[in-house]
Amino acid sequence: MNEGAALVDTMRYLESVGLNRGKAGNVSRRYGDHHYQITPSGIAPFDLTSASMVVLSLDEKPAPVGAIPSSEWRMHQDIYLARPDVGAIAHTHSNYATALACVGRSIPAFHYMVAVAGGDSIRCAPYATFGTQALSNHAVSALENRQACLLANHGVVAVGANPLSAAKLALEVEQLARQYCIALQLGEPVILSDAQMREVMEKFKTYGQRVE
Ligand SMILES: [Zn+2]
Repeated sequence: MNEGAALVDTMRYLESVGLNRGKAGNVSRRYGDHHYQITPSGIAPFDLTSASMVVLSLDEKPAPVGAIPSSEWRMHQDIYLARPDVGAIAHTHSNYATALACVGRSIPAFHYMVAVAGGDSIRCAPYATFGTQALSNHAVSALENRQACLLANHGVVAVGANPLSAAKLALEVEQLARQYCIALQLGEPVILSDAQMREVMEKFKTYGQRVE
């Protein structure tokens, strides 16, 4: 199998489940010990091929030759450097999660499934211009002890063992964001206590209910 196929499949998955439209969003995966493979800039999912994927070094800036990597390459690179546990990253501009990010709201423990992202909240990182070191720094901080975060006025980042598991977590985040938006319209959502969320996280470990 061509090695870029997993990224092509994941980009098409994100499009098919409605998380990304057109050229928004990007996906990457760790590639050996010192590299990562990332989707190129400005190509719609159904125009992508395995050969369009860009391999970049974790140690340096992309060389200005060949295909142009996603403008968010820096954020992907810094997440891999900060998080040895991360094998893949999915970034989307999915509607409800982005709507929450546009009012600067983190997702609190309004539903027990918030624990799929690794804790009792899904943080919203402060705003910074796309592609900048500042955005990358904010994303790495918001992902501390977490598998997903929102990016203010921008979108979502989810990480996982492989591209599809990261994408599936991005879908879980979108589902939660949608439910949280609806709950906010009905009234003040009841937030689960620290003890209640600790119990959920224990059960997730035991029963393997994390997103695979
Ligand atoms: Zn983006």
